[in-house]
Amino acid sequence: MQLQSRQQCILTPEVRRSLVTHLYRVFPEEGCGALLGDKTDNGWILDHFQPIRNTASNPQHMFKLDPTGWITSSFNPRLLGIFHTHPSSSPVPSPEDTMQLQLFGEMIQLYLIASRTSVDGEPDAEIGVYTVHRQENGLYTLESLGLA
Ligand SMILES: [Zn+2]
Repeated sequence: MQLQSRQQCILTPEVRRSLVTHLYRVFPEEGCGALLGDKTDNGWILDHFQPIRNTASNPQHMFKLDPTGWITSSFNPRLLGIFHTHPSSSPVPSPEDTMQLQLFGEMIQLYLIASRTSVDGEPDAEIGVYTVHRQENGLYTLESLGLA
């Protein structure tokens, strides 16, 4: 049996700040976007967040990446992940999230969700980080890496 070293996902302080800002800016709707960065031997470093318009018909409960913004990001070789926000629930993928993941699972390695919280009375975010895995049956699933 081979021991697997735990992979880490690092967010630069700028990216973490932009994710928190985006979460509150679009509240009470869900916000979404693309995460760019580098893959290293130990994991991933995310150093750029590209917000993408949420074009879902019910944006308070769902997100749909605006095709124009998403196409631009999807051609970027530094694309690593998708981000979206949960305005009023914890940063855990919903059944809809897992269903929708099948559309772009092939193109990403990371899946991040942010929820509102506060630290010392200041608005902050709880950010759940997940890695994307392709199952033998072709379905993409998410595995928790913990909180960033
Ligand atoms: Zn969601």
